[in-house]
Amino acid sequence: MQATPDLFVIAIDGPAGAGKSTIGRALASRLGLQYLDTGAMYRAVTVAALRAAVPVEAEESVADLARRVNLEVSDRGVFVDGFDATVQVRSDEVNRAVSTVAANPAVRAEMVDRQRAWARERSGGVLEGRDIGSVVFPEAALKVYLTASARERAVRRAMETGGDVDEIAVSIETRDRKDRERADSPLTEATGAVVVDTTGRSVEDVLDQLLALLEGRR
Ligand code: C5P
Repeated sequence: MQATPDLFVIAIDGPAGAGKSTIGRALASRLGLQYLDTGAMYRAVTVAALRAAVPVEAEESVADLARRVNLEVSDRGVFVDGFDATVQVRSDEVNRAVSTVAANPAVRAEMVDRQRAWARERSGGVLEGRDIGSVVFPEAALKVYLTASARERAVRRAMETGGDVDEIAVSIETRDRKDRERADSPLTEATGAVVVDTTGRSVEDVLDQLLALLEGRR
């Protein structure tokens, strides 16, 4: 399934804790678009593997699971073959395993197909992840690479989930490194993406900048 240029897509990529979900949701709501958290899809496949006791390193078995699993990632939560995994997808166990699942090219191919189909059904939307502007929708109307200082990203995560800031910092740095170093669709600033540093800035402030950028392109 190919990406189609006639969709109105906003692509938001960046490392963990950069503010992608908060900004993505707020932007979608302001523009009357739907929002897709693609990281939750990779997390959901990870939950499917853990539930089936398939080791996340077993590339073929995990790819097979990814092709067969029924996933729902929506405002209702995250469902894996009907099982409510909304809480489990954010667990430490999934945080540790998800980058291995996401480095599996066959899993990525399946998720990219599903993400493109999601956008096509809605004539577009706000999609957030690691490879949206580089691979999934390189022709997006607006491509944003959100970032923030490592410290601020860890503090934000700690405020959301509880836990020790230093431990969270190590966990997200490990995940970011794996996401940057993988061979297939590594985390990178897509060609044409606007780099937005959210360190010390309010959601409203970042949102205003993105809305102005969009306005300028219309
Ligand atoms: O966005 P979130 O932190 O929930 O993503 C979890 C993991 O899913 C990332 O660390 C990355 O390994 C993977 N991911 C990806 N491509 C995306 C979205 C997420 O590889 N588009």
